Amino acid sequence: MSRTTSNLTEKYDVLVVGGGNAALCAAIAARQSGASVLVVEAAPEFYRGGNTRHTRNMRCAHDSATETLSGPYSEDEFWDDLLLVTNGNTNEQLARYMIAQSKEMLTWIAEQGVRFQPSLGGTLSLGRTNSFFLGGGRAMLNALYRTATRLGVAVTYDAEVVALDIDGDRFRSASIDHAGQRYTVEALALVAACGGFESNLEWLRESWGAAADNFLIRGTRYNRGTVLKMLLSQGVEPIGDPTQCHAVAIDARAPKFDGGIITRLDCVPFGIVVNKHAQRFYDEGEDVWPKRYAIWGRLVAAQPDQIAYIIFDAPKLELFMPSLFPAIAAESIGELATKLTLDPAVLVSTVDKFNAAVQDGKFDPQVLDDCKTVGLSPPKSHWAQRINQPPYYAYPVRPGITFTYLGTRVNRDARMLMRDGGASDNMFAAGEIMAGNVLGSGYAAGIGMTIGSVFGRIAGQEAAKRART
Ligand SMILES: Cc1cc2nc3c(=O)[nH]c(=O)nc-3n(C[C@H](O)[C@H](O)[C@H](O)COP(=O)(O)OP(=O)(O)OC[C@H]3O[C@@H](n4cnc5c(N)ncnc54)[C@H](O)[C@@H]3O)c2cc1C
Repeated sequence: MSRTTSNLTEKYDVLVVGGGNAALCAAIAARQSGASVLVVEAAPEFYRGGNTRHTRNMRCAHDSATETLSGPYSEDEFWDDLLLVTNGNTNEQLARYMIAQSKEMLTWIAEQGVRFQPSLGGTLSLGRTNSFFLGGGRAMLNALYRTATRLGVAVTYDAEVVALDIDGDRFRSASIDHAGQRYTVEALALVAACGGFESNLEWLRESWGAAADNFLIRGTRYNRGTVLKMLLSQGVEPIGDPTQCHAVAIDARAPKFDGGIITRLDCVPFGIVVNKHAQRFYDEGEDVWPKRYAIWGRLVAAQPDQIAYIIFDAPKLELFMPSLFPAIAAESIGELATKLTLDPAVLVSTVDKFNAAVQDGKFDPQVLDDCKTVGLSPPKSHWAQRINQPPYYAYPVRPGITFTYLGTRVNRDARMLMRDGGASDNMFAAGEIMAGNVLGSGYAAGIGMTIGSVFGRIAGQEAAKRART
């Protein structure tokens, strides 16, 4: 694999923009289909791979248990899950096609050198549906880069696409900034696999207003949506709502970017969540956590100053996956409130009211148990237990944006569709940048990697085919 600037002075069959899962799957598939391929990754080599670095698993349909998956997961069940989480806000034809293709992905990805392992504990109960990468997303990426290298894919890091020359529906060349110079790279086909716009705080502010200033970005700082913006302003049809995204509640002490999985907090069902006025605002026990964790980012985003606090007591501390920062502890609710800069009297009253509304039941974190509140608004429908055993604990949380859903509309060949109703001649998209075609809203764990792998492979194959005609 060449990492020199000389990559940028050649002409290629296929130019792949991005350096994560979708880009690498596209690059490998295009090369395997006989095309010459250049991958340009905006990040330095150490940070290559965007949000994919942080991933742990991928959701694929499969007919039977495997060495690492505990049972079958049919295409229909996958579709039902997607329908549920998106509230029907998906393109059924495209989504069903992706799900059907996902069946081949476990084998295909393994053929590219990626290894799987059984599900770990504390991972949202995904052992039947999701395949976990041995060593996580970084190890997965390393395998894909190794394979791309072996096949002769050229890769340049620190190479950001800053402009696209598009003539009607046809891509001609890209302007790329690298090592202090601007290069123009021509290619017969383009695969845009360069993520959403979640790291572009100005763009987030356009959609969310000042609230966006309090968002934390869970992944790479390089997914700024520059290429997405260029494509949408040059005739490519958009898909999705700019405010729709995957957002979870993460520790408010996390860094602005790249905090990753270890800043996510999975203890909401075990306590109550209050806003800065020490008031509850949503049913913490509405459904099992794998079906609810991805709504809490938006819920916290809707609260004053985009801050909330998960409050629980001693017996719950070890029931969830530990996170990077320690819980804030106190011997009384009042003392806890003071440490959180909440009004102690109000927090004490909120906890007292909650405790009084809790009905005795059989606590079971594995099922929708019968521990609930009565006469409380909002209710806590399951796992409601009195908060009365010190020490008391709290985690401050903010919205952690994983990735945005506004993207480029595509057809099943991953070919971009144009505003004038036609399909692009030679422009393809894969991964986050077109995720909105499948995810209008909501999320099912592991589907980000499915979208990238399935449409990455298709985009690479189709781009190579286009380049040869
Ligand atoms: C903490 C965390 C955990 C996650 N866990 C999972 C999981 O377990 N399973 C799952 O399915 N999904 C998970 N996701 C979501 C998943 O990471 C994404 O859906 C997936 O990685 C997207 O792949 P991609 O290739 O489209 O984008 P990315 O992997 O983000 O790659 C985009 C690349 O484009 C590059 N780029 C951007 N702009 C330019 C430009 N102008 N020029 C050149 N290059 C550019 C970036 O540097 C980056 O390398 C997680 C995300 C986060 C943040």
